[in-house]
Amino acid sequence: MAIQRTFSIIKPDATKRNLTGAITAKFEEAGLRIVASKRIQLTLAQAQQFYGVHAARPFFDELCEFMISEPIVVQVLEGEDAIAKNREVMGATNPADAAPGTIRKEFALSIGENSVHGSDAPETAAEEIAFFFSGLELVG
Ligand code: UDP
Repeated sequence: MAIQRTFSIIKPDATKRNLTGAITAKFEEAGLRIVASKRIQLTLAQAQQFYGVHAARPFFDELCEFMISEPIVVQVLEGEDAIAKNREVMGATNPADAAPGTIRKEFALSIGENSVHGSDAPETAAEEIAFFFSGLELVG
């Protein structure tokens, strides 16, 4: 498997509880390298655009309101098989279903306030990285 890059968000429930370092440590322990990182505050329009694929879902409005409720930390993670590896470290969407040791099992509050976002495929990773970062900000 080649070296990949994936996109991650440390969500408002986690930044609010001062978990940025603990979650970043989980990525690094899994062999993922942080090649870009910044703390930002999303606008509602940005949150709606980012989660546009979920626009028709019943949780869309609540999800967008949650994502703008506190600052977030957006990161680019690099490593062998980084997309799948990150999804593994994150754990299942619903923390009740997440495996022991995963970020969502240890830190998430609910299926909505679940501490992290991670890209699910190479195409979405590329799109999501480009949404938040310029090439100059990615330092491998
Ligand atoms: N979400 C929610 N309620 C649901 C399903 C999802 O609030 O019933 C939120 C949750 O924050 C999740 C995000 O919508 O992380 C995106 O959902 P997806 O199914 O893509 O899950 P993920 O890829 O984040 O595990």
